[in-house]
Amino acid sequence: MGAPERQAIIDLPAIFHNVATLKAMAAPAKFMAVVKADGYGHGMIPVARTALAAGANWLGTAHVSEALSLRAAGIGAPLMAWLHTPSTDFGAAVAQGIDLGCSGWELDHIAAAAREQEHPARIHLKIDTGLGRNGSTMADWDLLVARAIAYQDDGLLRVVGVFSHLAVADEPHRPETDAQLQCFREAVAIAEDAGADLQVRHIANTPATLSRPDSHFDMVRVGLGIYGLSPFHDQSAAELGLIPAMTLVTRVAMCKDVPAGQGVSYGLHYVTDAPTTLGLIPLGYADGVPRVATGGPVRVNGITYPVVGRIAMDQMVIDLGPTGRDGFSAAEVPGSALGAAAVLFGNGHDGGPLVERWAEAAGTINYEVVTRISGRVPRTYIELTGAAEGSGVSGASDGSSVGMGVSA
Ligand SMILES: *Cc1c(COP(=O)(O)O)cnc(C)c1O
Repeated sequence: MGAPERQAIIDLPAIFHNVATLKAMAAPAKFMAVVKADGYGHGMIPVARTALAAGANWLGTAHVSEALSLRAAGIGAPLMAWLHTPSTDFGAAVAQGIDLGCSGWELDHIAAAAREQEHPARIHLKIDTGLGRNGSTMADWDLLVARAIAYQDDGLLRVVGVFSHLAVADEPHRPETDAQLQCFREAVAIAEDAGADLQVRHIANTPATLSRPDSHFDMVRVGLGIYGLSPFHDQSAAELGLIPAMTLVTRVAMCKDVPAGQGVSYGLHYVTDAPTTLGLIPLGYADGVPRVATGGPVRVNGITYPVVGRIAMDQMVIDLGPTGRDGFSAAEVPGSALGAAAVLFGNGHDGGPLVERWAEAAGTINYEVVTRISGRVPRTYIELTGAAEGSGVSGASDGSSVGMGVSA
C-alpha cells in the first residue's frame, strides 16, 4: 500500500494559471487551447475543462476523432480539428458542430457531409505560408477560396476562418516568420475580397504568442504553453511565468550494495568503479521514458542522480553513491532508499529536475517527452479548488511534496 507505484501527476491549477497568463498576454485575441494528443499526454478531458474554466474560448485538436471525444464528454465549447484523411468522419463533425480546417481536397467531402446532414459546415481555410505541410499553396489559394465561397452561397458551409501555421517561431531571430505573416495577410485579404466574412484569422502557436504580438490576429492557438513548458531554448518556463504541469514520479523498487566492477543493465555499458549502492527505478521505455536517455535525472531524497546504463523496457538504474559522480553531489541517503519517491521531472520549484533535462538526454524536445509518457503510467490529478485560486498540494510519498500552491 502507500503511494501509487508510478504516476504522472497533473497539476490542473498550474494549467489554469498557464491558460490565464497566456490569455492575458494574447488579449484581446481569443484563446484556443490545443488539447490534441491526449492533451500533450496530460489527459485531454481534464485539461480541456480546466482550460475552459480559465477562460479559453476555443479548443483545438488535430483529429476529428479527438474533437468527437470532447463532445462525447459533454464539452460544448467551440471546437476545431485540422488534420484529415479521406477516412475522416466529416458527417459526425458537422453533426457535432466541430469546425473543420480545410486545405483543399477536403472541401468537397465537407460539402457532401453538410448536404447529407442537412446542416451547414463551418470551415477555416488553411493557407501554407511557408511550413510546407498542410494548407493550400498561394498558387491554389484563389481557386480554393472561390470554390468555398460557391459552397457558402449554396448554403452548405460557412467560411468562418483563415489560418496557417508557423515554422520557426521558436527561433524568434529568424526572418522567415515575417515572410509567413506577410503571406498570411495577403491570403486573408484575398479571402475577404472574395466575400468571406471571417470570424477568426489565426496563425500563432505558443512561441509566436509569447514572442510575436503582431502574429496574434483574432485568435492564438496555444498548446505547449498551457502545459507550463517553454518552447524556447534560452528561456525557461519560470522565466515566462509558466508552471510545468506534469510530474513523473515512481518509487525506488530495489536498493542494493554492489562491489567495484559491477556492470549495470543490458550491454553492461556502465561499470561501477568503487563499492556503491544501486537504486532500481521502475520506469522504462514502455512507460515512455526514451531508451536513449541514459544520463537523464532522477531525484531521490532531495538529490538528483543521472541514470546509469541502458534504460530498459520497465526499469532503469541510478547509482546512489557513496562517491557521487558526473558532477552530482555525493549521496547522503539515510538508510535504504527503497520505496523513496523517485521524481524524473516536475515543476522544478523544489530544485528538482525539469523535463528539458530528459529532452536533452534523449536528443529531443520537451513536447515529445511529455506527449509520449505512455498509457501504462496512470495520470492522477491535482484538482482545481473553488475558483481555482486555492493551492493544490500532493504528496508523492513519504511526505515529499511534488505539487505546489498556485494562485490564478
Ligand atoms: C499543435 C498545433 C498547435 C500548438 O502548437 P504549440 O507550439 O504547442 O503551441 C497550433 N496549431 C497547430 C496547427 C498545431 O498543429
